[in-house]
Amino acid sequence: MLISVDVEKRCHNAMGRVAAMTEVLDVELDAWPCPQLAPHPPARTGGRVTCLDWAAESPARARVVDYTCSCRVIVYELLASGGTYVIRRTHQTVPPRVAYAGPWLRRPADRMWMLILTGEAR
Ligand SMILES: [Zn+2]
Repeated sequence: MLISVDVEKRCHNAMGRVAAMTEVLDVELDAWPCPQLAPHPPARTGGRVTCLDWAAESPARARVVDYTCSCRVIVYELLASGGTYVIRRTHQTVPPRVAYAGPWLRRPADRMWMLILTGEAR
């Protein structure tokens, strides 16, 4: 009984945080209109989602190959670094929270990137 009450409370708190993040996003959309130049990964697909292993280690040198729209709270970038590829995830908070997944060779990196763009991975 005590455990279910605790879980309900935590779920309620999590929903409150999601609602708060949505409100922040709406404010940001009003302040900076979306240029519609980059893809917007869907927030939820309702299907199976692959969870990537995100870590703080960044590649020494990398260039941006592709990216998602910066109008969202979470921005993803596909980075190339010395023949391998990583995905950088940035939560646009203050301060920003940055994490990296990979490295992969080009083909698996492209596959992971497509999963990100379709909302099937995060
Ligand atoms: Zn946008």
